[in-house]
Amino acid sequence: MRISVIGCGYLGAVHAACMAKLGHEVVGIDVDERKVNELSAARAPFYEPGLEDLLREVQESGRLSFTTEVSAAAGSTVHFICVGTPQKKGENGADMTYVDAAVSALIPHLLPGDVVVGKSTVPVGTATRLAALIRESEPEAHLLWNPEFLREGHAVSDTLHPDRFVYGVADGSEDHKAVELLDDVYAASLASGTPRVVTDLPTSELVKTAANSFLATKISFINAMAEVCEAAGADVSLLADAVGMDDRIGRKFLNAGIGFGGGCLPKDIRAFMARAGELGADQALTFLREVDAINMRRRTRVVELTRDLCGGSLMGQKITVLGAAFKPESDDVRDSPALSIAAQLQLQGAVVTVTDPKALENASRRFPELHYETLTDLALRGADALLLLTEWNEYCRLDPYESATLVSALRILDGRNVLDPSKWRAAGWTYRGLGRP
Ligand code: NAD
Repeated sequence: MRISVIGCGYLGAVHAACMAKLGHEVVGIDVDERKVNELSAARAPFYEPGLEDLLREVQESGRLSFTTEVSAAAGSTVHFICVGTPQKKGENGADMTYVDAAVSALIPHLLPGDVVVGKSTVPVGTATRLAALIRESEPEAHLLWNPEFLREGHAVSDTLHPDRFVYGVADGSEDHKAVELLDDVYAASLASGTPRVVTDLPTSELVKTAANSFLATKISFINAMAEVCEAAGADVSLLADAVGMDDRIGRKFLNAGIGFGGGCLPKDIRAFMARAGELGADQALTFLREVDAINMRRRTRVVELTRDLCGGSLMGQKITVLGAAFKPESDDVRDSPALSIAAQLQLQGAVVTVTDPKALENASRRFPELHYETLTDLALRGADALLLLTEWNEYCRLDPYESATLVSALRILDGRNVLDPSKWRAAGWTYRGLGRP
């Protein structure tokens, strides 16, 4: 099938490459010329495990190309909308200008029978509005909403082997030509047993925001428990292990730490609250305000703990922050809690060095005032305190004895509760975790 993918960022570039891998003929379209040039040369414009190999493999097959020209979408039957929906500046709601611009640019190139498939995370009601817009100019084209659930760091396998497909259709009926076409696109995954749920348009949009709200709530729940554990002298990691053994609850997403960040959860729960407000259902989501507040409080808490760890003052203390990305196996620093903590420490007088295996370029663009160091050993040299804030494997595996030979003072704050406290203490370190005695 001929497919266009509009918006080639973390979601779209992976989607385009994976659709070509499934055997389709794909054109990826993005307004960012630099990104298009990189992708055309089979280079991933961001770090995502496996993406560059996949780009090389499918481009050799001739089934994948990239361009800045939206007219290249003409002739494709299925058009995926994968552009960004960031938080509006100074407001909680989602900025819909990119989605609106992408759909408006695509409309003149649609032919009867074409299917526009929305994958971006959007406020409920968007799909119905866009469907009407498309119908006005091409009554024979259809719109489906097919939210994306991929996780950065696992995006290629999540796209090739998703845990479910959700199709939002105008009348909510499976008996629709557009459903048949999307089934053809995803035939390989469907044949291997991936479940597919067909809903009306608003339900499909809400599945995505509800899922992200649940995940955010689970993280803030365990971080709230961490606050209580700190006050009571209890251990939140053991608590999470024991609570998570109940299979109604589960252990995943119950890791207390510095909280969630990235280009999705924070802005998605805020956009959800804003949209619920517009719909007169704001009371239903007031708990998300607390989820957000608990999450942001973790960042302040780490700054306080670091001050404590440094003997009561941050002034002039050399602090090394291990990790800048919002999660390991990604170079994405959007709303990264690690970077936000690093910047707060610097503002309070500390001399901060940040290191990360992949995210330093993005980080230095966002926070040019921080000092960056590529090599972990050099970053550790002379530090008065280490803060492990993104749980990259290499930081989880740091040797406390070797590290001790590099730093000035043996102090470590484990913002992700991934180190073995007894090992670090045995090597002479003052160890602080979050929600652990
Ligand atoms: P991103 O910022 O990495 O990518 C968006 C891309 O769209 C950019 O490359 C930008 O240049 C391009 N773009 C903007 N306007 C355009 C236009 N008019 N025409 C063509 N291209 C245009 O964002 P992302 O992380 O890929 O997220 C995209 C959407 O997917 C968001 O709604 C996000 O919430 C959702 N989503 C993201 C993830 C994730 O893990 N990143 C997972 C699930 C859903």
